[in-house]
Amino acid sequence: MGITRRTFIKGLGSGITALGLTDVIFTRSGWAALVPPAKTKDTQVTTSICPYCGVGCGLIANTRGGKLINVEGDPDHPINEGSLCSKGQAVFEVVTSPRRLKKVRYRAPGSDHWEEKPLDWAIQTLAQRIKATRDASFITKSPTGVPVNRTEALASIGGASINNEECYLISKLTRALGIVYLEHQARL
Ligand code: SF4
Repeated sequence: MGITRRTFIKGLGSGITALGLTDVIFTRSGWAALVPPAKTKDTQVTTSICPYCGVGCGLIANTRGGKLINVEGDPDHPINEGSLCSKGQAVFEVVTSPRRLKKVRYRAPGSDHWEEKPLDWAIQTLAQRIKATRDASFITKSPTGVPVNRTEALASIGGASINNEECYLISKLTRALGIVYLEHQARL
């Protein structure tokens, strides 16, 4: 006897019953049991902003035990509504990539080669040089005797990824040092 459509479906039904798969195939809980738990299950959820450009897309970061598990677009964020460009989608790597730079490369004045230096050294050296430059160039009065209290030997250039709070702190610090050349890369 040949197999007709009717006998095939009948046989399939009997097979499913015989194998006890009816709960798996025909119920929601049956399917759910086959789906592995989401990797973001039981994680701490933190919202953030993509650091790469001035669009400022919203992110959701999931951490477990202090370890970053996942980063994705925030669907509730009014700018990106959950979407991210290719750079934003790779933002997970900013934290996790083994190629992330953890030292600075420094070429001393007059030197012909680069040296690797620790980040702490770079921050301390920058602070010392800013202080020395500011002290050496500080102008208290203009040529006409007007008090100005500024330095014209230092400048600050901001980037589009700097957020409001960072802009506030940079502005406060640079103005306190007497820096008058405050610029932003988007205007250059
Ligand atoms: S996801 Fe892309 S467009 Fe959005 S802020 Fe990041 S780099 Fe800019």
